[in-house]
Amino acid sequence: MPPPPAAAVAARKLIGLLEPLLDGPDNAKGSGAATQPPGPGVRDILSAIQDLVPALSPGSPLFATFHNGQVHDPLGGGSYAFRDDVVGPLISALVHDETLAGELSGDTIATAGSGQARHARIPTRPIVIHAGLQPNNSPHVGTLIVFCYAFAVAGAIRDRMHTAAASTGVGSAPVTAPPVSVEITFVDTAPVEGQGEVIDGVHYQRSHRDVPKALQTYMADYDEVLHLLSTWSGIPYTVRFQSDFFAGPTIPSILRYIIEHHELLGQQLSPKHGTLALRAACPVPGCRLADKHGRRNVYTKPSSGGQQSDAGTITFHCPHHGPHVVRLSRPDEVARLEANAPARNLIRSMSHLLDTRTHHVRVTGADYAGMYQEAFLYRPLAAWAAWAAASTSTSTSTSTSTATATAAAVAGRTPHILYAPLVVDWSGAKLSKALYVRGGGYAAMELLGSGGLCSFALLRGRFGGDGAAGLRRIWEEVGRWLADPRKLFRAYSVEYLQRVVLEGGKWE
Ligand SMILES: [Zn+2]
Repeated sequence: MPPPPAAAVAARKLIGLLEPLLDGPDNAKGSGAATQPPGPGVRDILSAIQDLVPALSPGSPLFATFHNGQVHDPLGGGSYAFRDDVVGPLISALVHDETLAGELSGDTIATAGSGQARHARIPTRPIVIHAGLQPNNSPHVGTLIVFCYAFAVAGAIRDRMHTAAASTGVGSAPVTAPPVSVEITFVDTAPVEGQGEVIDGVHYQRSHRDVPKALQTYMADYDEVLHLLSTWSGIPYTVRFQSDFFAGPTIPSILRYIIEHHELLGQQLSPKHGTLALRAACPVPGCRLADKHGRRNVYTKPSSGGQQSDAGTITFHCPHHGPHVVRLSRPDEVARLEANAPARNLIRSMSHLLDTRTHHVRVTGADYAGMYQEAFLYRPLAAWAAWAAASTSTSTSTSTSTATATAAAVAGRTPHILYAPLVVDWSGAKLSKALYVRGGGYAAMELLGSGGLCSFALLRGRFGGDGAAGLRRIWEEVGRWLADPRKLFRAYSVEYLQRVVLEGGKWE
């Protein structure tokens, strides 16, 4: 006689433990028993459940974990430093940037006799809150949290500045708070899955913007989400693509610096390949291949004369059609450029620092905090600032004016970046749509009732209508984090958000 299936063994054991509950005192209603802490019998039942659950689907086993529903927001590091306020310190930092530029004008508000005087000063330049995304899926809850954070912090900055402006004393000149907006950048140069090639060990990719169907697949979902968040926050937003980014007025001078220092930057930004991952797709119609890591790029420095016609070039290589060139003097050619995440991160930060007419604040996921920024952003930025300072004092070339402007704009300043809490799975890994789909994890999330967190499309399916009801729950939860900022300096589990967002409950 074959042994009974594991599920049957586990089920019998559990039933055996449960049966006495049917005959015993009424634990559910008995006030005395209900207030008792769980006893050893409960532990046995939990163990039996943990044995039974994986046996129910041995081909793709599930595992049962339990928790007590208590939520902690422990203090330490950022959560300690910013537990009372994150918006005020940010506004102060923007004011400080204007102080460095010698721009502190009559718009500065002094609230005499108030302990809040330092925070009552407001910036005069417009403020843009940035967030970005790769449109390779309908946005999952992690991306939606970043968007909610961007619009929420924009609204909080606007409200704080309006309050401060209104507090100007009688007789003072009226103060107008600068406009606050959100700018969403689509990284439409992300690779399209299944469209790449490896030739002679070099990886080539095709980008979303060169495969129109891939880009359009999810755009409607992003439009819907951004429209809703803009309506709820009262904050206007704009959408940008990579070609807009590379068309920026400061990009050519940044690229000149990058071409001159591409060897050092390649080592700093790509520990694996040691090359700077600037790309341009092959211009031959129907080809559009780009060298993913920029390994075959050839950089030609601008001549010392620095003439407009000789501002430097990057020669890219197509494995099928040979070399093609981007000349820095040609904006239409520069707009063809693409960059991988670290290079984009650096170039974007440089362009934000060089813009002395607008404040730029970025919101991104907490997985970019820490060593990533220190190695890929702050170290190269420090080298850039040092170069600008040294060039200003020693260079005699016509590029001195660029270096002088760079040195003046960058001195003492660093990017303003806010990090949104990560959404993590049971193991603490970041929720990632791509990985979940590949590993069959999405089916498990559906089974466990958390599938609506995988994408806005699934969230909309869960709540019906235009998906506003589900997004509204995320928006309100992020609003609670901003109101109690220590909640911004931690991660949130799928299970936590399942309860709060999908089931409309609370953990207290
Ligand atoms: Zn080609």
